[in-house]
Amino acid sequence: MRYSQYFLPTSADTPSDAVVISHKLMLRAGMIRKLAAGIYTYMPFALRTIHKISNILREELNRAGAIELLMPAVQPAELWQESGRWSQYGPELLRFKDRKDGDFCFGPTHEEVITALVRSEIRSYRNLPVNLYQIQTKFRDEIRPRFGLMRGREFIMKDGYSFDADEAGAMVTYWKMYEAYRRIFHRCGLKFRPVEADTGNIGGSLSHEFQVLAESGEDALLNCGSCDYAANVEKASERNDAAAPDPAGFLPVETVDTPGMGRIEEVSAFLQRPPEQFIKMLVCLADGTPVAVLVRGDHELNPVKLKGLLGADAVEMADDAMVLSAAGAPAGFVGPIGLKGNLRLLADHAVRGVLNGVCGANQADKHRIHVNPGRDFQAEYADLRMARAGGRCPKCEGGVLEAHRGIEVGHVFYLGLKYSRAMKAQFLDAAGKENPFVMGCYGIGVTRTMAAAIEQNHDAHGVIWPMPIAPFHVILCPINPKKDEEAGRAADALYGELTQAGVEVLHDDRGERAGSMFADADLLGVPIRVAIGARGLKDGIVEIKRRNEAEPARVPLKEAARVVQDMIRQDLEKYA
Ligand code: ATP
Ligand code: MG
Repeated sequence: MRYSQYFLPTSADTPSDAVVISHKLMLRAGMIRKLAAGIYTYMPFALRTIHKISNILREELNRAGAIELLMPAVQPAELWQESGRWSQYGPELLRFKDRKDGDFCFGPTHEEVITALVRSEIRSYRNLPVNLYQIQTKFRDEIRPRFGLMRGREFIMKDGYSFDADEAGAMVTYWKMYEAYRRIFHRCGLKFRPVEADTGNIGGSLSHEFQVLAESGEDALLNCGSCDYAANVEKASERNDAAAPDPAGFLPVETVDTPGMGRIEEVSAFLQRPPEQFIKMLVCLADGTPVAVLVRGDHELNPVKLKGLLGADAVEMADDAMVLSAAGAPAGFVGPIGLKGNLRLLADHAVRGVLNGVCGANQADKHRIHVNPGRDFQAEYADLRMARAGGRCPKCEGGVLEAHRGIEVGHVFYLGLKYSRAMKAQFLDAAGKENPFVMGCYGIGVTRTMAAAIEQNHDAHGVIWPMPIAPFHVILCPINPKKDEEAGRAADALYGELTQAGVEVLHDDRGERAGSMFADADLLGVPIRVAIGARGLKDGIVEIKRRNEAEPARVPLKEAARVVQDMIRQDLEKYA
């Protein structure tokens, strides 16, 4: 591609409304233009990367036995009413009416459409399993569209759905997709990690997110330093083996004055006892019903775990008035002893290990000391706390959890019977009996993956594309081609030779000054830069430099095409 004939408007100015680096660089590098909040045009340079990611997706999904189709983006409300999501989905679903006053939405995802399709087309177990995917524009009216393509409203997603005859088959499909996803992100040249993810309240489900590791990621991840355990912090556990202490050490409960001290730090300092010895009681509302939850004083409640345990749609903290009416004492002074009878009491596993602990006394300005779980109160124990870096791995002996940040680019999810039951999507098994399909769904954010690649691979000057998804392999930079005709001619010849060989070359024939041409080359992040100037040509030399290297190599012009092709091959082989 000759730059002079391309549509690639770069800019040196940092856009004021962009916060994260991928958003800034995509605007500056002429990759995206905003049309409305969270809605962007993908400019030609970006579209090349979108196509490369899409092609890798196709190759790996096809290899894994999935089949591509394309469903409508506009979906009738009836299907969403069947699944129950027309009322559950909320304002993220863009709804509208057609001229006959029929309700429709713009698809944020396609479980309903695909389930209806397979329901009407597949009758027999003989035609299972089937695994279908599409690459398509989705719309989600995100409450806070931000960070450019990372969280848009309109974005491109690969979404896939599998249908199996039984759970065992669905598990085989799930792990096939998991492996395909590993290959996909490896082939994109990204550093990533699959992590265990929360499954909401679909009972007995299994879910992994594929996270591109980047400081700017919205998701907090924990992984074991010794084994392969890794999970989103929403889901992550620490080892839960706190043993109940020996009752021989129990002291009698006492009530002590703690005037005006409702916070653990205050009481801890006042009573000279560490937060680990505290039993913190929180009153939460699960779908409006109050429930009391105990966690150790130095731990935090994980609301996602609580939500999952209770099978609730929403969990929130009760306000002070609710605490008072549910627990019978002011917030900050509530505790598990002598609770109002009807309040359900849950506790995190670590609470069991507290010996002679401190908790609220259920009266204003008082705490109890020498409180012992088991002796002084009973609770339902579960894993309810936020896991932390430094905690012990739940999977291996001796491993310690480490913290990372990530960008969720893909998601594999075992759905089981959620949609097939709701939508009565059934097939006949070998015995002639009707059974619901066992489903899985698999998503990859194509445009988010492109943004994540930039978040992970950039420097102060611009993008540093991994070779497999770079818009171009090579940028050719002739220096002063108008003055030094020889440089212009040599560049044109090399451009022809490389293009002929199938190399994707951006030929910067605009005649810009060397400084701004090199600045643009760095901004655009094309992996290999070839500079051709009169000075080098005197000795028959051109300069070849990788985007992520400081110093160019001096290469004879005659060998330039071969050297460039070798470099590309080496890079691509790394990610094969
Ligand atoms: P998030 O938690 O980030 O909102 P999600 O769980 O809603 O993601 P899924 O429904 O699993 O996402 O969608 C599949 C994939 O689509 C995600 O892994 C992500 O890569 C991409 N995706 C989801 N929402 C957006 C968005 N607003 N902008 C760009 N990509 C998105
Ligand atoms: Mg979302």
